[in-house]
Amino acid sequence: DLGTVGDELGLAVYAIGGFVRDLLLGVANLDIDVTVEGDGIFFAEQFAARHGCRVRSHRTFSTAVVIFPDGAKIDVASTRLEYYESPGVLPTVERSSLRHDLYRRDFTINTLAVCLNGPSFGRLTDYFGGQQDLQERLVRVLHNLSFVEDPTRVFRAIRFEQRLGFHIAPHTENLIRSAVRMNVLNKVGGLRLLNELIQILRENEPVGAIVRMAGFGLLPFVHPALKLLPEIRRVVEETGRVLAWFRLLYLPDACEQWQVYFLALGDRLTTDEFHDACRRLAVPGRISTKVFSHRRQALGTLDAIQRRLRRNPEVRNSEIYDWFHGLPLEMLLYLAARANREEVRRFVSQYVSRLRQVRCSLDGDGLAALGLAPGPRFRTIMDRLLVARLDGEVVNDEQERALALL
Ligand code: ATP
Repeated sequence: DLGTVGDELGLAVYAIGGFVRDLLLGVANLDIDVTVEGDGIFFAEQFAARHGCRVRSHRTFSTAVVIFPDGAKIDVASTRLEYYESPGVLPTVERSSLRHDLYRRDFTINTLAVCLNGPSFGRLTDYFGGQQDLQERLVRVLHNLSFVEDPTRVFRAIRFEQRLGFHIAPHTENLIRSAVRMNVLNKVGGLRLLNELIQILRENEPVGAIVRMAGFGLLPFVHPALKLLPEIRRVVEETGRVLAWFRLLYLPDACEQWQVYFLALGDRLTTDEFHDACRRLAVPGRISTKVFSHRRQALGTLDAIQRRLRRNPEVRNSEIYDWFHGLPLEMLLYLAARANREEVRRFVSQYVSRLRQVRCSLDGDGLAALGLAPGPRFRTIMDRLLVARLDGEVVNDEQERALALL
């Protein structure tokens, strides 16, 4: 249909980038990227009008996103670039070619384009040897200055290599090494660096990519003290197992996998170093407050638990609740991954899957209805009732009411 609208408007339309790469690899990819030879925003608006979609356009970049009623999206780019040299002056419009457009991409495997117009539907354009690299399973840049031009491509190279089970081509690897030696990554802003790291840590199996980042010497750009020591690698690998366990619970809670891996990676950093790393990455305040600011408290709790277990291995549910209550899910999963003792993993598992849902059924109104005079002691009574519920001393509402009146 994209092609039909292109035909009607006399515009050449291509599917491009990751979509074509994954199509040729036989991997599912629902993100369609389209490039229009001409005005992509005009094309997107016309396509949307015919299909009842919405359009969000970015004039500065000549790009648009077509949003279908069910939420599916198509990214539309243009080979037409407009430069506004000064306000009030008509923009300088440069109609660059498809080849020119593709030359700006990161890797050869992302430069394949499939024509969607009627007469040439399905014709593959391959200017830079992308098909051969797909066959040879290689991630290769298009030119020697690629990583200097955009250092974030170093992370993208690792991400694609690991996700697709490819290899970074030897010359491309050398270019990464010299980019690292030239410290080009210091020029990347915090948020862009964070974004790349998040994308890597959100992959299905990020451990290989973490090992690769360490191998290229990328971790010190996040923090000079960040190293993949054997004990940190153990925590990172354990994180994979803990997250796999968590997914099998099929809980409705959203868990930000990248945050758990990030905590694991920073396992040996001091509190100050960890905060410095967050600052370098410009981690947004709401994430720091929600998750990372609990790190010191959580590590303190973990120490206390391990000491407590050495004294006496018998633990009541209400104690587990007390330890973990108030800690974000991501932090709990990190604690499970970094704990030395199997029991701690079991406690986290009990808390996450069951204990944190436990409530007492009486609230303030319920207590007042039993004839108790309202006051600060309501809090004490309710805490006591919750402990009784957690530890199984009370198993139904009747017993709870009886305990409240004691
Ligand atoms: P994913 O499946 O992770 O979304 P993708 O290939 O679709 O993979 P995107 O990050 O969505 O990747 O980018 C879309 C396309 O834009 C890529 O195929 C790539 O060619 C191009 N691109 C993205 N980032 C860069 C960059 N930093 N430098 C050059 N080209 C880039």
